[in-house]
Amino acid sequence: MKGLMMEYPLTLTHLLERVRKLYPHKEIVSRMPSGLHRYTYGEYYERVCRLANALRSLGVQKGDRVATFAWNHYRHFELYFAVPCLGAVLHTLNIRLFPDQIAYIVNHAEDQLIFVDDSLIPVLERIQPQLKGVKGYVIMTDSERLPETSLSPVYDYEALLREADPHFEFPTLEEDDAAVMCYTSGTTGNPKGAVYSHRALVLHTLVECLPDGMALGERDVVLPIVPMFHVNAWGLPFAATLVGAKQVYPGPHLHPRDIAELIQQEKVTLTAGVPTIWLGMYELLQSERYDLSSLRTVIIGGSAAPRSLIEGFEKRFGISITHAWGMTEMSPLGTVSKLKSHLEQLPEEERFAYRAKQGIPAPFVELRAVDDQGREVPWDGQTMGELQVRGPWIIRSYYNDPRTEEAFDDGWFRTGDVVTIDPEGYIQIVDRTKDLVKSGGEWISSVELENAIMAHPKVKEAAVIALPHPKWQERPLACVVPKEEFKDKITKDEILEFLRDKVAKWWLPDEVVFVEEIPKTSVGKFDKKALRKQFEDYTWPTTPDEI
Ligand code: ADP
Repeated sequence: MKGLMMEYPLTLTHLLERVRKLYPHKEIVSRMPSGLHRYTYGEYYERVCRLANALRSLGVQKGDRVATFAWNHYRHFELYFAVPCLGAVLHTLNIRLFPDQIAYIVNHAEDQLIFVDDSLIPVLERIQPQLKGVKGYVIMTDSERLPETSLSPVYDYEALLREADPHFEFPTLEEDDAAVMCYTSGTTGNPKGAVYSHRALVLHTLVECLPDGMALGERDVVLPIVPMFHVNAWGLPFAATLVGAKQVYPGPHLHPRDIAELIQQEKVTLTAGVPTIWLGMYELLQSERYDLSSLRTVIIGGSAAPRSLIEGFEKRFGISITHAWGMTEMSPLGTVSKLKSHLEQLPEEERFAYRAKQGIPAPFVELRAVDDQGREVPWDGQTMGELQVRGPWIIRSYYNDPRTEEAFDDGWFRTGDVVTIDPEGYIQIVDRTKDLVKSGGEWISSVELENAIMAHPKVKEAAVIALPHPKWQERPLACVVPKEEFKDKITKDEILEFLRDKVAKWWLPDEVVFVEEIPKTSVGKFDKKALRKQFEDYTWPTTPDEI
């Protein structure tokens, strides 16, 4: 028997209509450079309709790509629904990429329009001559007048909305229609595009809200610190809308103090971002007091959350961290680390060890790890393999990109992450394949070393890179940023001594260098590629004869 159920495409439009009907009085708050902006979902809906009309009048057709070049705020969020619900494709450009990469992406995606924050105009002005296909730039500004710009033609976002009809009949879409696209940050070669369908985003949203996912509900107050150009702010704007939660957007100021104030003031219950943000916050909270008791949990992902951070937040500040793993190619949710109930009886040490892992696969995400010969490795928590995944919100190919072929293995997406999977199904990311230290035929996990070093009380950040070595092929170099008060008051030997009972002897970094900061990628992760470049001419001070 077939055709049993109603034809009911899973599209984002349903989320938008639902929030209008059920939660019109709930608030959306944005911290703009000009001050706090507040309005309700009811007002939001009307502006989304106006925006959809404006997009139509600018000639946007089904399937057209409409780009954003913006921080996290309510206008960006308006585009999040207006563009896909109109049938067009929202393309969130990463504002921190190199100009040439941005130009490549805009041209590759064939963006028709770019919606840009006034503060970010200069970046686009520089590359405009390369952006031949863009038919217009829409400027999002709080000021009465548009700033002077060489971008052309330009439109004023607020003027467009004022002039547009507040009613819009959203078209019926198919669930396989494209809704959003996002490019990887391109640590090697040009960025690659991932296009998400409505169906993928709806299913992803549902699963994200589950109790063992982010457990989102109407009572939550959600603050996405992760940028809206970094895989849809990990799906939080969609998830918060589905359940009718209050949303808070931080705008361009992301200093830990700005974030702590916002959490305190708006009584945020759930927030999310990469570890670097929380390492900074952890330091701040040691010297300044904020009432963050509204926080139910902080989602950390994007790179490994050091166990010491998870433990420290919980023990010192009563803030619970949820570690999660995902990828641009996975919309992005892959795994979430929550303790299964029967593991709650374990001693504290083991409980934190589980929670520092990246977690178990979300429903509908299937995963396996394979060795060099393509054989699946056992779920024993020991054997390493390359993680492969499949599921309804994982891309089937990169957008118009020949690199698709090498990224898939018999219907599975190859993540490029090396993992172990334990008998409970928790994965642990050992490293990215390209960041592993290959020493004398064995692998050293740079992630594990970094996390061990960052547990040192004098250390703020640490990144470990592999450098060529005459005898061992590669050996680890640790780059360490001391906490402000311990600058020049920490030694290499202290670090090595601290590591001695935590990692195998042959894992100990051959050298520890103290640096001002670790370079960060466009989405705030440690930029190992930049760090390797910084140390490309490095020569080891001594050749260790015994490792
Ligand atoms: P980019 O490749 O630009 O960094 P992504 O955000 O798509 O963009 O990166 C996905 C990768 O980030 C994963 O393949 C993995 O290596 C890393 N990653 C994501 N979350 C975690 C995590 N919780 N722990 C360790 N690594 C993570």
